[in-house]
Amino acid sequence: MAADNNQNDLLIVGGGPAGIAAALWGKRLGLNPLLLEAAAQLGGQLLRSHNRSVDCPGFYGLVGADIAERLTVHLVREGVRFETQAPVTQIDCATKTVVVHGAVTYAGRALVLALGVRKRKLGIPGEQEFAGRGVSTSATRDKGQYVGREVVVVGGGDGAFEEALLLDEAGAHVTLVHRSANFRARPLYRDRVLGHPRIRVITHARLTTIEGTGWVERVTIKVSPPDAPPHQMTLPVDGVFPALGVMADTELVAGQVARDADGYILTDRHGATSCPGVWACGDTTRPLLSSLSTAFGDGATVAKAAFDWLEAQEQSR
Ligand SMILES: Cc1cc2nc3c(=O)[nH]c(=O)nc-3n(C[C@H](O)[C@H](O)[C@H](O)COP(=O)(O)OP(=O)(O)OC[C@H]3O[C@@H](n4cnc5c(N)ncnc54)[C@H](O)[C@@H]3O)c2cc1C
Repeated sequence: MAADNNQNDLLIVGGGPAGIAAALWGKRLGLNPLLLEAAAQLGGQLLRSHNRSVDCPGFYGLVGADIAERLTVHLVREGVRFETQAPVTQIDCATKTVVVHGAVTYAGRALVLALGVRKRKLGIPGEQEFAGRGVSTSATRDKGQYVGREVVVVGGGDGAFEEALLLDEAGAHVTLVHRSANFRARPLYRDRVLGHPRIRVITHARLTTIEGTGWVERVTIKVSPPDAPPHQMTLPVDGVFPALGVMADTELVAGQVARDADGYILTDRHGATSCPGVWACGDTTRPLLSSLSTAFGDGATVAKAAFDWLEAQEQSR
């Protein structure tokens, strides 16, 4: 690829906490970083985090959008270059060149992948159509709308169980639907939900459609019990909360850097990928703990690792 913009020592794809930390440290180390973010705002998952931070040093009591705002102001004050609404549609790791919007190319001397993760979807009719009209991505944000109403939460992990408990506490009538009887949720949540007098749990079941007129009115569920023939049921509901966890979003670098079986990028302890001059940081590397603190630390580390690598490249010339 011939680059339209090749003045970047450090090119960073992804403007979540990890990419932002990489950009700040890249700037501090004199690497003239450029950060490219697909969304209209920086922040990544912070923009859908409506709980108040209690575990990230320095951000106590703030919701995700406030933290994202502070991080953006920080970048601006430090003069770090970033572009939003700049979805990278092609990445060439060997040449450290990326294409934005399928049209404009950018080249860096070093490349940082801070691609994060995206929410898994149900992938069924009605999910997209009723987004924000009964299909919700956050119980923390929307629970007030469902007092005294019927809701269905889908999933078997911590997120699903937490959403079920939050909605019940807010006064909704909750049904939790999961595809098997094995729950990934930690015992603390499992015990509270499975023994709960008001939360109904349907296992071996999948939602197949979400229907309504203007707002969600019902879901169809296919139940496949291990010891009985499959059957279908219709549940009248006002709200649907898919909570299926997240997945890596790394197809752009498939075959270019080593990834694990689920698509998360494999790195050494300083974030180096299998391709020289390309680093990865934050949730895209499946950290032991997916968090703001680790994303910040990972981002800072890859900037320093890239700096050292670029210095070594210079010296070997
Ligand atoms: C509801 C919720 C609550 C949370 N609560 C907490 C909490 O209380 N405490 C805590 O520590 N952590 C919390 N987290 C986790 C924390 O937000 C994440 O661990 C952190 O955001 C990971 O940062 P990241 O930069 O690695 O990835 P992300 O935040 O996922 O950011 C990745 C960014 O890359 C961009 N991107 C991806 N592909 C491209 C592309 N091709 N082109 C351009 N841009 C691209 C995405 O648009 C996104 O903005 C929460 C997360 C959620 C969802």
